[in-house]
Amino acid sequence: MNCEKASRLLSAYLDHELTPEERRLLRLHLLACAECNEELRQLETIKGSLARLCVTSVPSFLPWLRARLAEEEAILADEERPVFVWQQPWFRRTCAAVAFLLLFGLGSWLLSPQRQKGPVPSQNGLPSLPEASWVNVERNLLR
Ligand SMILES: [Zn+2]
Repeated sequence: MNCEKASRLLSAYLDHELTPEERRLLRLHLLACAECNEELRQLETIKGSLARLCVTSVPSFLPWLRARLAEEEAILADEERPVFVWQQPWFRRTCAAVAFLLLFGLGSWLLSPQRQKGPVPSQNGLPSLPEASWVNVERNLLR
């Protein structure tokens, strides 16, 4: 095995992906080649660093990321929340004033003395009705 082929197999060797025969030939080459041994050592260092990154850095990174995402979502929700007209203080005050006036007017009308007396009687003792009323027509016929 030459250095070029050994170099191509080093990563697979570290991942235990070589056939027993490839593994045996590579080990033979590594016994004789300092250059490939150095490359193997560097590969091991890189793989170890990557493994530590995956194991330690990600869990410490996730809470920070979650907090940042929650902050961003809160800001977005605040900015995008529609402000309806009925949520405005001035609109609520106006509604309260209108409701008060309506209730006051309705109450005044219901309790007014004129309304409680009923229709004002006419001179002949019968209640006054509009001219077109059928009662009026009948009354005129009886005269
Ligand atoms: Zn070599």
